[in-house]
Parts: sequence; structure tokens; C-alpha cells
Amino acid sequence: MMSDAIQLDRDELRLPPIPSGRMLIGGQWVAGSSGASIDVEDPATGEIFAKVEAGGAEDVDKAVRAARKAFESPAWSRMRPLDRARLLETIARKIEEHADELALLESFDNGKAFEHAKMVDVPAAVDIFRYMSGWCARLGGTVNPISGDGRQYHSYTVHEPIGVVGLIVPWNYPLAMAAWKLAPALAAGCAMVLKPSEVTPLTALRLAELCLEAGVPEGVINVVTGYGPEAGQALVEHPGIDKIAFTGSTRVGKDIVRTCAIDLKRVTLELGGKSPSLVFADADIEKAALGAALAIFFNSGQVCLAASRLYVEESIYDRLMEAIIEVTRGFKLGHGRDPHTMIGPLVSRAQQDRVLGYIGKGRAAGNELLLGGGKGLETGYFVEPTIFRGSQADSAIVKEEIFGPVLVATPFKDVDEVVRTANDTRYGLAANIWTRDLSRAHLVARRLQAGIVWINTHGLNDPSAPFGGFKESGWGREVGEEGVLNYTETKTVTALLGD
Ligand code: NAP
Ligand code: MG
Repeated sequence: MMSDAIQLDRDELRLPPIPSGRMLIGGQWVAGSSGASIDVEDPATGEIFAKVEAGGAEDVDKAVRAARKAFESPAWSRMRPLDRARLLETIARKIEEHADELALLESFDNGKAFEHAKMVDVPAAVDIFRYMSGWCARLGGTVNPISGDGRQYHSYTVHEPIGVVGLIVPWNYPLAMAAWKLAPALAAGCAMVLKPSEVTPLTALRLAELCLEAGVPEGVINVVTGYGPEAGQALVEHPGIDKIAFTGSTRVGKDIVRTCAIDLKRVTLELGGKSPSLVFADADIEKAALGAALAIFFNSGQVCLAASRLYVEESIYDRLMEAIIEVTRGFKLGHGRDPHTMIGPLVSRAQQDRVLGYIGKGRAAGNELLLGGGKGLETGYFVEPTIFRGSQADSAIVKEEIFGPVLVATPFKDVDEVVRTANDTRYGLAANIWTRDLSRAHLVARRLQAGIVWINTHGLNDPSAPFGGFKESGWGREVGEEGVLNYTETKTVTALLGD
């Protein structure tokens, strides 16, 4: 349980009841077959405050079978689309009713500020269920005006649920990422097995519990907690899975593609990024400085679409950097339940070590350190917001995804140069552009190789706007119409009516 050592500023911000700690299989909360468990840590203190089951292949197999049974059951396969819509709306309301509890759980588990979880993570989960509820009764097909051989045909398409889907999510937005996968899969009529990250399993378990309370038939949603290479790998390998929807690192994403090639499972991938911010000399400096700072330091930089490379037109480089350093100095590093905290700890010691390792490499390669560079706080897995002047274009801090609060800022001379440098990466998730010249903004947006481009803003995601990356940032798009269609197969039905 929560340690007394955690000093909360406000009494009400106590650890909410921990979800049962067991896994959800076939509507039952069950223990894992190995008997092993995983410790759940508070990254602000390193305290272990919960345990979850370490599920493995046997548990995954049970969950996949339960999902198949549910997928074929009339309770789910024959549920009226409008009743499915009502179910998703009920889940949205349940999340709203439990907003504080879920945000607190997320804050303890992931480390992020309670206020952020409440303002960003929980509403993202609510919004996706509400939005996807609208698709349940709108997944119509087309009537195909076929030419054929001149005889009369009736041809139409239907979007059928793809079947049993395996959903694998990371630890940076555990609740929101789980919701972004569960909601479209439910809207499409699939049954599913969700594997949260071993580091942050709690909100996924609680969300699944709320889904059951809302009336999702048993077996439609199963949750297996466990380690990636064990539970995750078993899910990807399982022949009873029709599709894997994965959010995580590019390295694991590529391994998943190789495994899925064996039986050609469908795969969608939301992977890493090394997104650029482009600031032109005519930009509103204050807004661009705040925007570019938030684009990298929000959620301690543990955001797939974090803009970790900043390119600034030469003539305003010094001014803009001064402004960014000033705003960033105002971001308070601290415990997630401290109401003044802007930047929480990183999720784990491993992540802290990794990020500090990159900072070391950045220094060793001769990039000038403009801000930060250390842990900031001694207890917990903190790393200070860190800014380098990027003089070495081929150093690791410019090329590789760090997934932490590290920004590399480089001056540029002209549009062609900055477009070329911005695109010079194996990733292509997001980008942002700061300028008052609208036509330049849109022209540059067209030239950037990124799935999402923001102009004079950064980070706004919406369930109606497709989300995903070019190049090694992934395959397919989540949310929006494309997002729900990715949980379906299209079937063409053609009937000969007569000569
Ligand atoms: P990760 O190691 O790839 O893990 C992601 C998920 O995959 C976790 O649930 C993990 O389980 C599981 N996993 C690990 N190895 C597996 C395997 N061999 N087979 C099946 N599943 C496996 O990534 P992470 O370090 O947790 O997350 C950070 C990365 O995610 C970053 O690169 C970031 O860019 C990316 N990300 C992308 C998006 C996006 O939408 N594009 C969003 C968020 C994060 P365990 O944690 O239990 O090992
Ligand atoms: Mg944790």
C-alpha cells in the first residue's frame, strides 16, 4: 500500500483502491497460471504500492479462447448496433464519473501530475468512447456500380469486425492508449485481449472493470497483465488472433511485423518519433517559445509526438532560445500529487538511466548544453528539462528517439534547408510550424514527411482526426473513420439478378 513517506499536499489525493490485481479473462478476475507477480512502483519515490499478475502464454491462450467465444456469441455478434452505441456512451460516462480516481491512479502508476492526467488523459479516454459510439451504427458499406459482363448484378460491401484483436499499449498514456484501442475495436464489433505495459497496468484494469459494469458482455474485453517478451509475445504469436494493434517502440514494432508475417495477421503500428518544431523569424516569439517548450517537455518528454528537434531561423535564434529557457525555468519539477508540479518523474529507473545516458552522449559529442542536464531531484526518477544547441547534426541526440525531456535546438538559414533537415530522419510522426505567413505554413506542411502537422500549435489530438506516422513511425492510422475501419475487413457481395 501507499507509503507514509509520500507527503501529499492535499488529503484527498490519496491512492484510490487498487483494482483487484488479477487479470480479466472471460468475465472473471483470475490469477495468472505461473503464480508470479509484477511490482508496481510509484516513480516519484520508487515505492512499490501494488502488484499485478505476471501473465504468460497459458493465460494469453485462455484469454484468446474466451474472446473467440464472446466474438461468436449472440450476446455480442447479434447486439444491435444502436445498443452497442449506447454501451460505448455508457463507458464514456463511467469514465467521467470516475475521473478523479482514474487520474490519481495514473499519477501514482506513471508519475505524471494528477492535474495533467485529469485534464488530458481522462478526457482523451472519455472522448474516444463517445466519438466511437457514433460509428457503431454508421459502419455502412457501398453499393458498387459494377459493369461486369453486361448482365444485371447487385453488388455491395459490408465492413465486418475483423475478429479477435490483440491490443498492446505503452506506459506513457496508459489509460488513454488503452481507450484509443478498446473503443474502436468495440465499435467495430471485435472481441479483444488487452496487454498493458508491465510498468503501468493499473488504469487498464480499472477501465476494463468499468466496461464490465457498463454492460460489455463477458469475454469481449480480456486483460492479461505481464511482461512484453512473455505475455506480449504470446499474444502476437497466437494463431487465434486476427489483428495486432500496437503502440510502442519502433524496435518492438518491427519484431511484431516479423511474427505477424507467419500467418499474415493484420497489424497497425503507432511507433516512435523524432518530430521537429520549425520556428520562422516572423512567428509570435512568445507563443512559439511556450509552444515549442511544451511540445518537448509535456509529460516529461515521454510522448511519441514530442517535438525533440527545434529548428529556429537564424535571425531570431538567440531571442527565441532565451524565451524558451525562461518559460522552461518556470516548469516546476515535482511529485505528481503536488498541485504545483508541471513536470513529473520519468516512468522508471531504466528510463531515467536511458535519458541521462543520451544527455551524456550529447555532451561528449560536443553539443553545447543550454539548460539542465541533471536529475533535478534526488529521490525518484527525475530528469531536468534539458536543452542542447545542436551543432552536431549526426549525433545520437539529434538522430535517435530519447523519449525524455531533451531538446536539441539548431539554427537554420532558409526554407529549403529546414525542410530538408526536418525530413532527414527515419521517423515521420508529427511536426509543428510557427509563422504568421499562412501560405508558407501550408506550403511547408505539404513538404514535411509527417502524419500530423500542427501550425502555430502543437499536440492537439482529437478522436475525429486520424493519428499515425509516415516512415518508421508506423503503419495505419488510429481514431477517426480510418481508425475504426482498421478493425474491420471489407467484404464484397455480388449477386446475379438476371440477364
Ligand atoms: P515498448 O518496449 O515497445 O513497449 C510497448 C508495449 O509493448 C508494452 O506493453 C510492452 O510490454 C510491449 N512489448 C514489449 N516487448 C514486446 C514483444 N516482444 N512482443 C509484444 N509486446 C511487447 O515501448 P515502451 O518503451 O513501453 O514505450 C515507449 C515507446 O513507445 C517509444 O518509442 C514511443 O515513441 C512509443 N510510443 C508511440 C506512440 C504512438 O502513438 N506512436 C505512443 C506512445 C508511445 P512491457 O512494457 O510489459 O515490456
Ligand atoms: Mg508504475
